[in-house]
Amino acid sequence: MNYYGDPITRLIEKFASLPGIGRKSAQRLAFHVIAMDDSAVAELAEAIISAKRDVKYCSVCCNLTDSDICPVCANPKRDHKTIMVVESPKDMAAYEKTKEYNGVYHVLHGAISPMAGISPSDIKLKELLERIQKDTPNEIILATNPNVEGEATAMYISKLIKPLGIKVTRIANGVPVGG
Ligand code: ZN
Repeated sequence: MNYYGDPITRLIEKFASLPGIGRKSAQRLAFHVIAMDDSAVAELAEAIISAKRDVKYCSVCCNLTDSDICPVCANPKRDHKTIMVVESPKDMAAYEKTKEYNGVYHVLHGAISPMAGISPSDIKLKELLERIQKDTPNEIILATNPNVEGEATAMYISKLIKPLGIKVTRIANGVPVGG
């Protein structure tokens, strides 16, 4: 139903297509944008466009970065032989906040979920396997989320890696999810 005219309906639909934003929140955001100053709206739009344009995947760990290699991978003081596998850059940031981990990461950008139609080829798994072959790590820590998808993903990866003779550890509760 189009109560507001096409431009605002379109904006509501765009917001509603984002993860975690329902119809009501999308409306609230759209009305908020309409009430904002022109310059603030331009800044918001520019922030979205430049984030998309300038941010890419780290060529080593697939973390989001604006350079070829992210700051963690570029740090020679980190233990590059220990790789912690996480689902998202957000998870990586949570582990970094604890300041207790000195290894490096691999960001999968998702988890295997047959229900949602996400297969192993939809996440950064091929990159992980290539990296393992190249960097020969001593240990892989599987820190995917403690839910069905995270467990399935950890299991899948562990089956692929164990035959290579690399130590595989599973942690699921080290850091609160999304914390
Ligand atoms: Zn990196």
